[in-house]
Amino acid sequence: MSSPGGSRQRKNNEGKADGKRDETEQKSDDERKKEQPKAKHDTCSKLPDVFNKFVDSFNSALHAVVDQSATCSSRKLRSLTIEGVVEFIKTEKPKNIIVMTGAGISTSAGIPDFRSPGSGLYDNLQKYDLPSPEAIFQIDFFEKNPEPFFTLAKELFPEDLKPTPCHYFIRMLEKKGLLRRWYTQNIDSLEYLTGLPEDKVVTAHGNHHTSTCRKCSTKYDLGWITAKLKDKSCKVPHCEKLSCGGVVKPDIIFFGEALPRRFFHCAIQDFPQCDLLLIFGTSLVVQPFASMVNEVDAECPRLLVNLEAVGRASRLEEMIGTTGLCYGRDGNTRDVFWKGSCDEGARKMADLLGWDAELDILIEQGPIPLSKAK
Ligand SMILES: [Zn+2]
Repeated sequence: MSSPGGSRQRKNNEGKADGKRDETEQKSDDERKKEQPKAKHDTCSKLPDVFNKFVDSFNSALHAVVDQSATCSSRKLRSLTIEGVVEFIKTEKPKNIIVMTGAGISTSAGIPDFRSPGSGLYDNLQKYDLPSPEAIFQIDFFEKNPEPFFTLAKELFPEDLKPTPCHYFIRMLEKKGLLRRWYTQNIDSLEYLTGLPEDKVVTAHGNHHTSTCRKCSTKYDLGWITAKLKDKSCKVPHCEKLSCGGVVKPDIIFFGEALPRRFFHCAIQDFPQCDLLLIFGTSLVVQPFASMVNEVDAECPRLLVNLEAVGRASRLEEMIGTTGLCYGRDGNTRDVFWKGSCDEGARKMADLLGWDAELDILIEQGPIPLSKAK
């Protein structure tokens, strides 16, 4: 308000007011009183505006904090620990558990984490000489040059992949009748290899079960694309339809492509019904997946198993009303963070639930081929 610019502006306005003095003097006192604020409109009259905006913004920030503390409160967990969550499963037998998973669940299966510096996939992309690491998953770039993606795809979809103990733990939730749906960001299809019914899985970023010709939209199945990826002489798979020859792309979602309709269709129905949200191995940064944690009922307990504490709104985000996970915050009685690998967390839960022997049997049985995993 006392900035040099402000002072300069006031002088100019006063000058203008002076120039109109004769005209203004002809008017009644009442009219003059009304005009007084107008004469200084660009300076003083802005002060109340700015002040009001500040008050409004302070009020909404306050409401956001109040609302946030309301969303952090639930009486369903006796203790804010992984043991408390397991006790909740044992006693309440929630039938609508939703599981959300990210790259962290598949690292022990040998699939590189897209976002782990040093060992991550992004760091290993330099050999492709891309304009940016993300370009390999950008649809515009793929249209121009699909070869880097397919070179990488041969690494992304290695043979003989096995689901991890955490994958099998989630399969056990389904066997016990407790799993409503498993939402995954991963495109490795390991969820299906546990033998889980296909309708229980929602692949937020698609998968490579099917592939589509970019030119004529002909669909190709998993066996077809797998053979192409295994074929060292095939750099880019092309459509086999007569006189087409378009590039065939696995149906995984690239940056710049819409998420599968099924993701939204299922999420709208599932999340309001969720009675326990389990989140394994995701950095909760990719939208809209990350913000799905906010779509469960305000009383629904949420457990995050991850190597790093993620998913909480920053103070700034809180001020503008963005919510997130509440663990570690004042007033939190619903959210739990368990620091560790997905496998360790899943095994701990299985032990506490008395499911450890059954889990071992599933792991020993090994992957169920996709064609049989229906
Ligand atoms: Zn085609």
